[in-house]
Amino acid sequence: MDITNHLLTWYDTQKRTFIFRDTGDVYRVWISEIMLQQTGTGAVIPYFERFLARFPDVETLAGADESEVLKLWEGLGYYSRARNLHKAAGIIVKEGFPRSAHAWLKIPGVGRYTANAIASIAFDEPVPAMDGNLQRVIARLYHITANADTPDTVKQLYTLGEKLMPATRAGDMNQALMDLGATVCLPGTPDCQRCPLTSFCLSFEEDDADALPRRDKKKPPKEAGLHVALVFSRDRVLMTKRHEALLKNMYVFLLSDSGFPALREQLAARGAQHVSELKKARHVFTHRVWNMTIHHFVAAEEFSVPHGTWVTMEEMLSLPIPTAMRAAKGCAANILQNS
Ligand code: SF4
Repeated sequence: MDITNHLLTWYDTQKRTFIFRDTGDVYRVWISEIMLQQTGTGAVIPYFERFLARFPDVETLAGADESEVLKLWEGLGYYSRARNLHKAAGIIVKEGFPRSAHAWLKIPGVGRYTANAIASIAFDEPVPAMDGNLQRVIARLYHITANADTPDTVKQLYTLGEKLMPATRAGDMNQALMDLGATVCLPGTPDCQRCPLTSFCLSFEEDDADALPRRDKKKPPKEAGLHVALVFSRDRVLMTKRHEALLKNMYVFLLSDSGFPALREQLAARGAQHVSELKKARHVFTHRVWNMTIHHFVAAEEFSVPHGTWVTMEEMLSLPIPTAMRAAKGCAANILQNS
């Protein structure tokens, strides 16, 4: 028996059970694969259930408001995934679901990994879904010691992955490799004693699997200081809709990176007075960190700011607000409750 058959036999008894697995439904496969980009399976499950309950098919998703899609995504992060999903639903309703990995690449938010995962799981196309798990397992099986982040090694890993794909059950094979990587061939020290592939594994033989795959050192995220102004006027608080790429179309409180004196001056010119500093908060994105100081301001009258809107407590809770604003939102809710 070869690696593929060995692993498929292991998968038949050891596979992880998820609500989004074995559905045979391309819509569900697509939604789950987008949610699983950058997010672990445990966190995805409740979001997947809520999303499918509200948008059971692609037509319902295409017909919804983008802000409702973002609201259901709230807390899951990487919100461009939700915006792309909504945009893609409109395209799919007109043109139908793509049926090959190549065609899936034309869909917004779908890269090579996701295209291959959907095409193999939903249509049994023999293409490797090369996520971090597959890269690690394959680099170790074949003892690939070159830097796995270089284009040549990426290509080499894809070629090896393609050779592992069976003519049928390609989706199962990808998921078997993912499961092996997530439960046995772990990052750092692999649990080779439980692995069904030891007799094929060159790194096991060399006894250096824990050093593979080799990768570039990640740059630490850039730290940024930010002031968050909670500006209240009677029973409303000022929020703005983001137009920047980071958190685009999500709602945040007034943000300033020009220092506190400038913020206080700018708001005083609009009739808003500083009441107090409320708390500090920190949010880590992939490439940057926001170190935030949250302030309480009170304005005699509502005023306008670009993309701004004044909302009541109820309205605030219905808007899509990113996790980065969790502490500020908690402060705003306390103040609105007592207003
Ligand atoms: S034998 Fe060890 S290193 Fe090789 S694939 Fe299995 S768990 Fe990974």
